[in-house]
Amino acid sequence: MSRLVLKFGGTSVGNVERIQNVARRVKAIWDQGHELAVVVSAMSGETNKLVGWTSEIAALHDAREYDTVVASGEQVTAGLLALALQELGVNARSWLGWQIPLRTDGVHGAARIESIEVDELVRRFADRQVAVVAGFQGLGPDNRVTTLGRGGSDTSAVALAAALKAERCDIYTDVDGVYTTDPRIVAGARKLDKITYEEMLEMASLGAKVLQIRSVEMAMKHRVRVQVLSSFADTPGTMVVDEDEIVEQELVSGIAYTRDEAKVTVLKVADRPGVAAGLFGPLADANINVDMIVQNVSEDGTTDMTFTVPRTDLERSLKVLDGHKANIGHESVRADGNVAKISVIGVGMRNHAGIASTMFRALSEKGINIQVISTSEIKISVLIAAEYTELAVRALHTAYGLDS
Ligand code: ADP
Ligand code: ASP
Ligand code: MG
Repeated sequence: MSRLVLKFGGTSVGNVERIQNVARRVKAIWDQGHELAVVVSAMSGETNKLVGWTSEIAALHDAREYDTVVASGEQVTAGLLALALQELGVNARSWLGWQIPLRTDGVHGAARIESIEVDELVRRFADRQVAVVAGFQGLGPDNRVTTLGRGGSDTSAVALAAALKAERCDIYTDVDGVYTTDPRIVAGARKLDKITYEEMLEMASLGAKVLQIRSVEMAMKHRVRVQVLSSFADTPGTMVVDEDEIVEQELVSGIAYTRDEAKVTVLKVADRPGVAAGLFGPLADANINVDMIVQNVSEDGTTDMTFTVPRTDLERSLKVLDGHKANIGHESVRADGNVAKISVIGVGMRNHAGIASTMFRALSEKGINIQVISTSEIKISVLIAAEYTELAVRALHTAYGLDS
């Protein structure tokens, strides 16, 4: 008998029948005698609908009211799952973020969890009560509802597992684990039995939306054992583990892609000290996260700088550059939203050469032009034209021998 946190994502609680299916699954685990906290997302599509409504009324909405609206999807599923469990004879009670309370900082729309009060939940475990917790939401320092950023229920679950000192956090979703790449675009993607925290963090950061980035950071920091598995099948999932738990490490464990970035090229800036600072300083001041950067060689004392920013920040970035034109001294700016970043990830890369050249060769064989490259110890990313996304991911999946 142990203490577990289970999390069910939007598709898993997408309608009443699915909520009843989740309730049966939870009951089966509860029948084994485990202490359970169950975190739920809103029904799939629900949060998008709520976000849409806030934008319809006010494009630049007040973030506190945005949170009041978008947090409501999880209130519905938490109550419904508690009811479905009660119907099966399980002692269950729902909890909203403020009722626990799960306290966060005051960054509405992207709040960070600061503390979780678990004493009451634990007392009720002694009465065999299941806590059904609304994911994605918390209570800010201003005593108002906050939300944790899109996909945030994963983070609610991992944080709760850490606070409860749970044996494991099981993330139930619509795929039966973490795959070598998104199984929706590569049919031959392979399920991984295990993946290291570091690789999972890179995968999540580089576009694999199967776990929210912050949930992986949190799991890593608090050493929470996380499993990703399907709420529709009974197969074992993927365990996120420490590197030494993986006996035979592949060189490349996965491929991720994202279309969430845009490319900006600043043409003809002077090639002298201080220019990069003059360019990237104002972007940083505007809280714009610059990711990949290349600076070309200078022939005539001027150079071009190319970099990527989140697509949602593209317009703002162009405004910032325009506002600092006199200081930066560039001739013009070109923006391209039609790009994708493709990344190969693997801790095995640390001590092996030739991973990058395999990538470049595979892409060139498909006639795909690489626009920007960036690397870290365990990943290589390239920026390409968006229309080649699927082709590139499939070619790389084959090139690294990942096809099942
Ligand atoms: P949930 O609503 O359960 O939180 P998400 O849609 O957030 O589910 O995450 C699951 C989805 O993540 C899958 O349907 C899949 O398309 C996508 N995904 C992207 N990359 C991967 C990967 N490497 N392994 C598994 N799933 C992935
Ligand atoms: N419902 C929220 C979202 O769609 C949180 C989550 O599903 O994890 O982003
Ligand atoms: Mg999710």
